[in-house]
Amino acid sequence: MTDHHPRTKAVHAGTRRSQYGELSEAIFLTQGFAYSTAEDAEARFIKAGEDEFIYARYGNPTVRMFEERISAIEGAEDGFATASGMAAVNGALVSILKAGDHVVASRALFGSCLYILEEILPRYGVEVTLVDGTDLAAWRAAIRPDTSVVFFETISNPTLEVINVKAVCDLAHAVDAIVVADNVFATPVYSKAIEQGVDVVIYSATKHIDGQGRVLGGVILGTKDFIRKTVEPYLKHTGGAMSPFTAWTLLKGLETLDLRVRAQTQTAMKLAKALEGHEKLAKVIYPALESHPQHKVCMDQMGAGGTILAIDVSGGRDASFKMLNALEIFSISNNLGDAKSIATPPAFTTHQRLPQDQKDVLGITDGLIRLSIGLEDADDLLADLSGALNAI
Ligand SMILES: *Cc1c(COP(=O)(O)O)cnc(C)c1O
Repeated sequence: MTDHHPRTKAVHAGTRRSQYGELSEAIFLTQGFAYSTAEDAEARFIKAGEDEFIYARYGNPTVRMFEERISAIEGAEDGFATASGMAAVNGALVSILKAGDHVVASRALFGSCLYILEEILPRYGVEVTLVDGTDLAAWRAAIRPDTSVVFFETISNPTLEVINVKAVCDLAHAVDAIVVADNVFATPVYSKAIEQGVDVVIYSATKHIDGQGRVLGGVILGTKDFIRKTVEPYLKHTGGAMSPFTAWTLLKGLETLDLRVRAQTQTAMKLAKALEGHEKLAKVIYPALESHPQHKVCMDQMGAGGTILAIDVSGGRDASFKMLNALEIFSISNNLGDAKSIATPPAFTTHQRLPQDQKDVLGITDGLIRLSIGLEDADDLLADLSGALNAI
C-alpha cells in the first residue's frame, strides 16, 4: 500500500477481512473479545496491540481499519480514533502537557479549541500564550526555550486565516516544542502537514471525512511512538474511544473523500470569484482568491482554497439575517464539509460566547457568514446566494 497514491489508499488501506472474505468492511459491533483459554487471556493482556484486541475502549477491528486508512492517506505512522474532533484535540494536548508547561497557540480558533486553551488548560497550571497566527514575528516573540507545545488550525475557523505551517514548525522545533495542528479546513485531500513539519495532525472526522452529517468522530495522527506511548495510555483510560459503527461510516466516507472535497472546492472557487465585489458584500474571504492576505502561502501549502468561504454582508445582523432567511438551498446550520451546503453566522452561533473585543480582533463581524460549499450544482448555489443577497 505504501507506494500507492492517496486516492487508492483511501479505498483500500487498512482493510481487514474476516474468514468470510466480505468485500465491504465489516462492522465489528462488539465491545469485548473472548479468549479460547485462560492462558490466551493472560497472553492477550500482556501483548495487546494492533492485532490483539481486548476491549473496545482500547481498540476494535473496525476502528483499527479506520485508523490505518486515515494514517496511510495522511502519511502518518499511526493514529488513534476518538469519539469526536474535540476528544482528539483534548486528548492530544492533555496527553502531552503537565502543570508548569507553556503552550503557544494562534488566537483564531474553533470556539471549543479556544475554550480548552483559555479555560481548561490554565486550570491545570498550563500557561497559554495566544498570538496572531498569520504574524511570524508574533510566533517568534511568544515561543520560548521552555515552550512545550505549539498549536494552530492550519486554516482558521471562521475567518480563514492561513498559517505558514513550515515557518511556524521551524520556530517550534528550534526549541524542541511539539507542533499540534487542527487540520479540519485543509482536509486530508490538500494536507501535506506532516511533510511540512507538523508532529501531530488532528481531524474532526465529523466534517469532510464523514461529509454527510451522520456521525461525530475524530482522529489523532503522529509517529507510532507518540500514538502508542503518549496518546493511547491517556485515551484508553479516559474513555474517548470511537464507536465501531462510527468507524465504519467514516471508512465509507474516506472512499469518496477525494472526489467530494475536490468537487466542493471547485464550486467554492467559482462562487468566491462570482461574489467578489458584490455590492451587498463588504468582503469575500477565500484563500484561493488573490485578494486573500495569505493567498500565496495557501497556494504553496495546499494548492487550493478548500471547501469553505466566508462573506461579510454589509449592514450587520439585520442584513445578514435577512439574507440567511432568504436562502432556499443552503441550510442554516453549524456543521461544515457536508454534501449539503451550509450557511453559519459565527458571531451569533459558534463564536457567540466571545466578548465583543475578541470578536473585533478576530474579524468576526455581525455580517460575517461562513459558507460550507456542498455537492449541489454550482449554478444553483450561485442563484440561491444572489437571490438571498437581493432580498436584503
Ligand atoms: C468541528 C471542529 C472541531 C470539533 O470537532 P467535533 O467533531 O465537532 O468535536 C475542531 N476543530 C475544527 C476546526 C472544527 O471545525
